[in-house]
Amino acid sequence: MKSIGSVYMAEALEQEKCPICYLNRKAEHDYIFWFLYEKVNDSGIRSMWRQSGGFCHKHSWSLHDVASEPHCAGELGVAILYKDLIENVFLANSTQKRKREECFLCAMERDVESRNIDFFIKELEDEDFREKYSGSHGLCIPHFFMILSISDDRGKAFLEGVQKNRMEDLFFRLSEYIRKHDYRFSHEFKENERNSWKDAIRLFAGERNERD
Ligand SMILES: [Zn+2]
Ligand SMILES: [Zn+2]
Repeated sequence: MKSIGSVYMAEALEQEKCPICYLNRKAEHDYIFWFLYEKVNDSGIRSMWRQSGGFCHKHSWSLHDVASEPHCAGELGVAILYKDLIENVFLANSTQKRKREECFLCAMERDVESRNIDFFIKELEDEDFREKYSGSHGLCIPHFFMILSISDDRGKAFLEGVQKNRMEDLFFRLSEYIRKHDYRFSHEFKENERNSWKDAIRLFAGERNERD
């Protein structure tokens, strides 16, 4: 029987995006959802929240997005957290005002990313997984290099082969996009050519930090 990690990884390969970016985003979403649902009144969490003076820019907006989801109803939790921050840090005689510790979601994100990468490398030993990966969207360039740097020779050769195919495919689509951009050919765009310039940004930067 497949482990829950394998099930999630298989699900990630079915998305039209980098599986590590996808799993990182899923973990972030699920953590914030759980945090708003269960942990707003937890004294340990509240203390971490005060020490970091709230979340960093990126995770503050993730908090905003998850709390705004219709089935989350997390707005009240956000209001409670910021009221706490103003009361106990900014209006109180606290040295914490100037000394902000790292956002704890950033720390968690690094940990989750490293576990997802380790798991991906372990899954690469499985023939079935390799086959699924070959037919998938593939890794973004930042995750490709992170994984390549810690893979064994066999894993490296496999990943480089798949990545080369992806690059050739994107190169062809970009070339076609540029060629057909001339008005005489503009009606000839195929859907995957029309989006090729966006796919290039996604490939080289990783998936966008946005809600599905
Ligand atoms: Zn990625
Ligand atoms: Zn953060």
